[in-house]
Amino acid sequence: MSAKPFASSADLSPKTETLEVLADGVYALTAEGDPNVGAIEGEDFLVAFEARATPAAARDWLAQLREHTDKPVRYLVLSHYHAVRVLGASAFEAEVIVAHENTRKLIAERGQEDWESEYGRMPRLFQEPEGIPGLTWPTMTFNERLTIDLGGDRGHLVLQYCGRGHTAGDIVAWVPRERILFAGDLVEAQAALYTGDAFHTDWSTRTLDRVAAFGAEAVVGGRGAVPRGRPAVEGAIAQTREFLVVMREKVGGVHSRGGTLREAFEATHTALAPQYGAWPIFEHCLPFNVQRLWDEYDGIDWPRIWTAERDREVWEQLQGSP
Ligand SMILES: [Zn+2]
Repeated sequence: MSAKPFASSADLSPKTETLEVLADGVYALTAEGDPNVGAIEGEDFLVAFEARATPAAARDWLAQLREHTDKPVRYLVLSHYHAVRVLGASAFEAEVIVAHENTRKLIAERGQEDWESEYGRMPRLFQEPEGIPGLTWPTMTFNERLTIDLGGDRGHLVLQYCGRGHTAGDIVAWVPRERILFAGDLVEAQAALYTGDAFHTDWSTRTLDRVAAFGAEAVVGGRGAVPRGRPAVEGAIAQTREFLVVMREKVGGVHSRGGTLREAFEATHTALAPQYGAWPIFEHCLPFNVQRLWDEYDGIDWPRIWTAERDREVWEQLQGSP
């Protein structure tokens, strides 16, 4: 028996959603720590950022967006491969689905397993799961940078890879004219990080350096409210980095002295809980995070695939009774 309910399986109360108009034609929908989504208006089309877990969940977001604009979605941008961000894609009827080349590779390699894993971990996000038509496949991929001309005098949107981070294929969307950054799960604002498929060293150093270098005035992170103004943006990036640095210090310390995974988990939990313990998905994520970082210290560069079964094993080992 687990001492705690598995992952977010017991989190069944809906969150309040807030649509924020960050600038003319730039929208974000935040939901008290549930995955954020966004949209950017072009002259006669929309770019949607992130797709939610199911078409039904995506349609709820689109209904709110439709109170502001009825332009068709030409581009759907997927920041990375995680199921709760991609499986609602069909609802957008987008002409083009854009992702990083590594995201396509990860969907091919582990998309099905990730779907089953995430459904088990966060069932509440999978509204009408039977409506998912199958895996989401990008129709356009890139490696470094892709620029979308928004038409008229709306400027352009830059999609940029900043290096390995939350996954091997995260991209951000940058609106230069308004200095607004959609950062996906590379930055979280007052929400815990999920690092179960991450590259902790790269992410906490050069990848976040590149994210910070945009000098954004507002950042839409993967979860949590939208920090606005340079101090708030820098604070969110610093908080994300600190979470990773503490994990590296604690897990690395136990690993190098020949301790156990469970000891690494407990040391990390003790160190992070005072600042981050009350934030969304902290207890849910930490066992998976520590296991992945432990693997990195074991020399496993490419993240192992999470399956519904392996999720339960790791959970039991780390969150179960000693
Ligand atoms: Zn993610």
